[in-house]
Amino acid sequence: MSSQPKRKIAILGAGLLGRLLAWQLHEHAHIDLYDQDLGNADESAAFLAAAMLAPMAESAESGRGIMHLGQLALRLWPKLLAGLPEPVFFQQNGSLVLAFAADRSHFDTLRGQLKGNAPEDYQTLDAAAILKLEPELNARFAHGLFLPNEGQLDNRQLLRVLAGALRSRSQVQWHTSAYAQLEDQQLLVNGEPVLEHDWVIDCRGIGAKETQADLRGVRGEVIRVRAPAVNLNRPVRLVHPRYPLYIAPKPEHTFVIGATQIESEDRRAPTVRSALELLSACFSVHSGFAEAEILEIRSGLRPAYRNNHPQMRVKGRVISLNGLFRHGYLLSPVMVDLCRSFLLQQPIDGRYLAAMPSLLLVEPEPLAKERVG
Ligand SMILES: Cc1cc2nc3c(=O)[nH]c(=O)nc-3n(C[C@H](O)[C@H](O)[C@H](O)COP(=O)(O)OP(=O)(O)OC[C@H]3O[C@@H](n4cnc5c(N)ncnc54)[C@H](O)[C@@H]3O)c2cc1C
Repeated sequence: MSSQPKRKIAILGAGLLGRLLAWQLHEHAHIDLYDQDLGNADESAAFLAAAMLAPMAESAESGRGIMHLGQLALRLWPKLLAGLPEPVFFQQNGSLVLAFAADRSHFDTLRGQLKGNAPEDYQTLDAAAILKLEPELNARFAHGLFLPNEGQLDNRQLLRVLAGALRSRSQVQWHTSAYAQLEDQQLLVNGEPVLEHDWVIDCRGIGAKETQADLRGVRGEVIRVRAPAVNLNRPVRLVHPRYPLYIAPKPEHTFVIGATQIESEDRRAPTVRSALELLSACFSVHSGFAEAEILEIRSGLRPAYRNNHPQMRVKGRVISLNGLFRHGYLLSPVMVDLCRSFLLQQPIDGRYLAAMPSLLLVEPEPLAKERVG
């Protein structure tokens, strides 16, 4: 593609991956970006997410492949954000994992998992050390871990800034209210065939389920509050047998409190039970949440394959990037870099496939289908 810079690429879905990819490719091709929404991404997983960049904390459940990929991706975020025309809140201040004295055994299990994954990437804290890092916390936490390398960003700001940047580029055509389907490599937009693209890149998240039988949605419920009385310097996670919780502080005293993880594709609003659990657990972390203003309580679906690992699939002229599950913000710089290198015929960073050999799947070309471009 590098020798023919003005080829045409269709990107389906303008959520997290679609926007990032369009931005990374717009200097090399004409981009048609299709989304079913009006351009605000408000039904995407990207809009709901806490956007924590937590390779270490996530490794306890997700394993070393995600951790290694996440560590690589975390290093890419600062450069990626620096290339945007407006600033986006990004912080790499570490994260804090907390447990009450009664939950010692759960805490020890988690610490054992982290020790096995990356023993040098965490510090064990006692009650005094916890309060030194986060002086406003309820003083009852007996056990803590500090994960110094972890980060977070403001997801909604990122989506907004990317939208503004893409809209200002003449090489990018953003099609709103554009429902995209793939039928045997054929792109249909609002039911009409669209033939003009050299490549079609499917970034529809859970919307790609119609063409990918092994994709599923994993429900997450999340609450946003504004709490002027709360000051936290970094994301805080609570280890709890029934109410595992995180609180991610965003600019202007906004906090994302989440998130349930339920094996269900139910898209209805959160239940009273989930809201009660999340809110009471966050109050147990910091009593200043008592006076917080609840901005929203919402649910969404994380797109996941059976093994909860992401994958880039290439078949003919169609590429799919999907399965980012609960790690979309963490891993998207790697996914986008992988796809960009593939399309530009540049060497793929060998560390990606070393961390996760299944990350790239190139399937045999479909038989005798008309190719355009
Ligand atoms: C509650 C919650 C908390 C999370 N917290 C974190 C976190 O802290 N850290 C982290 O790394 N990740 C987190 N995630 C995960 C992250 O949000 C996702 O992995 C990521 O958004 C997936 O990106 P995507 O681009 O594949 O899909 P999405 O962001 O969902 O975007 C898909 C886009 O495709 C569009 N679309 C779908 N179907 C069609 C169609 N047929 N035609 C046209 N357009 C279509 C949608 O409108 C949407 O805009 C969280 C997710 C949830 C739900």
